[in-house]
Amino acid sequence: MTSSHPAHERVVIIGSGPAGYTAAIYAARAMLKPLLLSGFEPGGQLMITTDVENYPGFAEPIQGPWLMEQMRAQAEHVGARVEGEYVVALELKQRPFVIRCDSGRTIAADAIILATGAKAKWLALPSEDKFKGFGVSACATCDGFFFRGKSVVVVGGGNSAVEEALYLSNIASEVTVVHRRGSFRAEKILRERLAARHNVKIRWDATVEEILGKDAPLGVTGVRLRNVLTGAFEDLAVDGVFVAIGHAPATELVRGQVALKANGYVQTTPGSTETSVEGVFAAGDVADDVYRQAVTAAGLGCMAALEAERWLAAREPAREAAE
Ligand code: NAP
Repeated sequence: MTSSHPAHERVVIIGSGPAGYTAAIYAARAMLKPLLLSGFEPGGQLMITTDVENYPGFAEPIQGPWLMEQMRAQAEHVGARVEGEYVVALELKQRPFVIRCDSGRTIAADAIILATGAKAKWLALPSEDKFKGFGVSACATCDGFFFRGKSVVVVGGGNSAVEEALYLSNIASEVTVVHRRGSFRAEKILRERLAARHNVKIRWDATVEEILGKDAPLGVTGVRLRNVLTGAFEDLAVDGVFVAIGHAPATELVRGQVALKANGYVQTTPGSTETSVEGVFAAGDVADDVYRQAVTAAGLGCMAALEAERWLAAREPAREAAE
């Protein structure tokens, strides 16, 4: 729907991970009638997670997609509107702000809560691009099934890499974790679980230099590793490669409009979700380069809604006078 008079909202939340849904719950309960634009893949990173054991309130492990369904249902139950629009542009120099969606719809907003999260990082190898979807993946829970009884490599040394390796070790015949250093940054509990798996090997101090494969049909046959200490190369025969080297904040919409930190995350005032643009608040992985947990994202979403509410209330008299 294209309109020359866009719908005018008090607060629009962009993103549908724990930060976005929690902001929606708090904003709805503050009677702000928030609109949440959920994007193409609603639910964020937890949609591609299986067991969640560290989100408080659940004695037994819960499933990531289930948790996100619950958050969405709760947000809608208290009055938030959740719509599957994908935002393609923000205009933050004018008031109200303008939000453009790929459907052609334009929305005017007094306040925006940016909760666009983070996206998986890739190794940036031409061979990785070539075999993406044909043996190269960044999501074991999405694609692991295709490697039943086969051998795979997982690249990375953080929680994501170790969780991917644990998940894949139940499906694949052999999992080799390739990490560029000599120790994991993943939590101890995960490291211990990995060490107990009989079909998991670890290549320390190694990087993937190239993904090897064949053209007809397109598919992975191996990886070329380089030992970073000796410089020696080694080819390892595998059927799949899972890249789990962390995430980069999804800031495309605000780049050049809102101050970013040197590492690319949205800059917020310490102890707050305020950005460099008054009325724009940022919550969750798009602004958090330290904790990056579902529960901290939810906490930041709560803060963003409370701060947006206070900010809107403070300028209410001026708005009423202008009308
Ligand atoms: P991360 O903690 O940033 O770890 C990324 C890993 O990839 C690091 O080991 C890093 O190596 C390696 N790496 C980065 N760039 C690389 C490159 N170009 N080539 C080779 N290796 C590279 O990312 P994450 O594991 O996705 O976790 C992100 C956040 O989510 C963390 O805060 C984590 O605790 C959280 N998380 C939590 C859970 C959980 O609680 N169950 C699960 C998943 C994620 P170096 O170690 O050498 O830097």
